[in-house]
Amino acid sequence: MEDPILQEGLRRAVKASVPATNRALQSWPYLAELADYVRKRKETVYSNIDYYIDETLRAIKEKAKANAYFASNKDEALKIIDSIIGNERKTIVKAKSMVTEEIMLREHLTEKGHEIYETDLGELLIQIAKDKPMHVIAPACHLTKERAAELLSSIGVKVTKGMDAEKIVPEVRAFLREKFVKADIGISGANSIASDTGAFFLVFNEGNISLATTLPPVHIALISIDKIMPTITDAFMQAVVQSGYAGLYPPTYIYMIAGPSSTADIEYHRVYGVHGPRELHIILYDGGRKEALKNPVLKEQLFCVKCGRCEFVCPIWNIAGNVWGGRVYGGPLGMGWTSITEGIEKAAPLSMYCLLCGACKEACPGKVDMIKIARYLKREYIEKIRK
Ligand code: SF4
Repeated sequence: MEDPILQEGLRRAVKASVPATNRALQSWPYLAELADYVRKRKETVYSNIDYYIDETLRAIKEKAKANAYFASNKDEALKIIDSIIGNERKTIVKAKSMVTEEIMLREHLTEKGHEIYETDLGELLIQIAKDKPMHVIAPACHLTKERAAELLSSIGVKVTKGMDAEKIVPEVRAFLREKFVKADIGISGANSIASDTGAFFLVFNEGNISLATTLPPVHIALISIDKIMPTITDAFMQAVVQSGYAGLYPPTYIYMIAGPSSTADIEYHRVYGVHGPRELHIILYDGGRKEALKNPVLKEQLFCVKCGRCEFVCPIWNIAGNVWGGRVYGGPLGMGWTSITEGIEKAAPLSMYCLLCGACKEACPGKVDMIKIARYLKREYIEKIRK
């Protein structure tokens, strides 16, 4: 908190993002209505979660013609991913995904000897810095251009310390372009997945996700069960709401993937792997979410679409960033998500920094009651230290 560079980075992020979301919500008032709709549809899924998981897995296999898996926890997810990738050293390009952070996928694959590149610029900086994301959608918002250049040059991007963003970005493009082309595997998460079709949506602006999920012959998507929506239109709505409340509306890209690449242009004979991946593997990931649904307080956090707005409006995040947080998630949303993914004992101390001002709940498209979560965790913490 005493780091002036961190403070300046957080100030810059808040100054750019808060007005951007406010402008989007004023310009497109239907976003707030869609947010209410999305919350209702998520409630439908949560009231019958096992049914929706089964339906989604079935749709992935039967409709999307992809390989479907279910992983209860980190070890199961890593085992499935290892079995798809195999033992030979592979080049892997990756889209930014908080769920892959949860299972420490990048670290795991690096340890296994694979060559892995984050392709979102902010997340690439976090990868090189061996840091954790400072914000759920703006992972490197705390880094200066000098630090960015220093990190990028350490992996061979042709940048020097005096360069500004206009000069740095084309060099990153040139560096990553070659990785996209030679990659054996592309890995992504998703903003939503439809249980009626197995189709899933990805929201992005840089263009990296279309390359990472299209150019390699194999695509692995790790998707947490809170991203399940009943229908393809519901799943699209969730992607729209996420981007609107992230202040990036309309987003440059909303990408839908509903199966591996294929053609039937020769005698209606279906052949897979034309210009896009021949194989698509979709892993539905629990990671504590089903258990959280049994707790009426923690269940609230599962209405989160990870837009990051609550972080920008929070007075504590404004001075501490994700230094106030668990291993993966920080800020107001970090209290609930850390409880779900790392356990209440890890999350409870975080709640003691919360002022209970309510700015997060007010800003949230999912109306996630983070105050209720904070109060619950504060009680847990106090009871524990009294014992
Ligand atoms: S808790 Fe709400 S405001 Fe915060 S990231 Fe999730 S959806 Fe966005």
